[in-house]
Amino acid sequence: MVLVCGTRPELIKLAPLMRHFGENGAIVYTGQHYDDSLYSRIRADLPPSKQFHELGVTAAGRGAQLGEAISAVDEVLKAYPHPVVLVQGDTTSALAGALAANARALPLVHVEAGLRSHDRAMPEEHNRVLIDHVADLCCAPTALNRLNLLAENIPSERIAVTGNTVVEALRAALPSAGDRADVLAARGLHRDEYILATIHRPENVDDPERLAEILRELGELPLPVVFPLHPRTGKSVERFGLTGLLKPLLVLEPQAYPAFLALAAEAAVIVSDSGGIQEEVSVLKRPVVVVRRSTERPEISGLFGVLVPPGPLIGVETAVWLNDVAGHRERLSRLPSPYGDGAACRRIADAIEARFPLA
Ligand code: UDP
Repeated sequence: MVLVCGTRPELIKLAPLMRHFGENGAIVYTGQHYDDSLYSRIRADLPPSKQFHELGVTAAGRGAQLGEAISAVDEVLKAYPHPVVLVQGDTTSALAGALAANARALPLVHVEAGLRSHDRAMPEEHNRVLIDHVADLCCAPTALNRLNLLAENIPSERIAVTGNTVVEALRAALPSAGDRADVLAARGLHRDEYILATIHRPENVDDPERLAEILRELGELPLPVVFPLHPRTGKSVERFGLTGLLKPLLVLEPQAYPAFLALAAEAAVIVSDSGGIQEEVSVLKRPVVVVRRSTERPEISGLFGVLVPPGPLIGVETAVWLNDVAGHRERLSRLPSPYGDGAACRRIADAIEARFPLA
């Protein structure tokens, strides 16, 4: 098996598969996320591997990055005689891995297949569609994801519904209640008495007015707002002269995964534009206000989350959840996660074994 990835969320969600395949799985990391806070900090918690290839793709811009990554992955694939190539999600790196496998006529597995926002302004939407159509096995997290694939005429023999590996990734990394209390104490926080926010999507941070509006909304929320600052967001804040808007927030560096989960598990509400966090709230049983114009993860809407455009609805919807923090905690604790029971990794491995027995 060759697992191709290049960003923080891929490393996090592929960790259970890395553990499963052990030394039978090589990992190819393109370097799309190269910043220490998004890469080294996350890699430090991964299972060690002797076959970890760092490609150091540094090209700027999506086209150049894609081209460089395809060539670099292709070089590595030469060293593996008959690998099955596996990619996860919807990044440029995942697309590069898919196309490199396709160019060598190697079997391709797409983990987290069938997500659709139907928003063609998102590069990720194009990546997902392209990868699903070249994949030989689409591992769809949910029944809805499977229906999305069938609606695009992807044959059912190519699809397996597996759940999402985020469930087992999270369970393996979530600190105990005692350790979570230590994480909070170190930052002067109290359970259910703060909000956790993350914002990093280009649609929110590449436009000065939109970013300013979001930061202003966060600054006016009625509880302390903990804000791990994504490097992309940090650069935009500097470039647009918005540093003053960070003053009311408790700004942190991007956190290691276990520390971030501790903060998320104990927050009253989470405000985020992240894809992965939309899934994680359903395992942590926390509510999320999703700041996006569209989502490819509608499974949580109306249960664990609500979608709002950047602007005043951030405050309005957060206030709804803050109205009864204990009550929502109790109610959400009884809802199952739409992303499965923590056996996605086993189902994915079984589906691979069934289709490519020599992998
Ligand atoms: N995350 C983390 N530290 C942080 C912020 C997020 O470990 O300071 C984790 C989060 O729990 C989730 C993943 O990073 O698993 C989400 O990554 P990101 O939001 O960058 O990407 P997306 O999911 O939107 O593709």
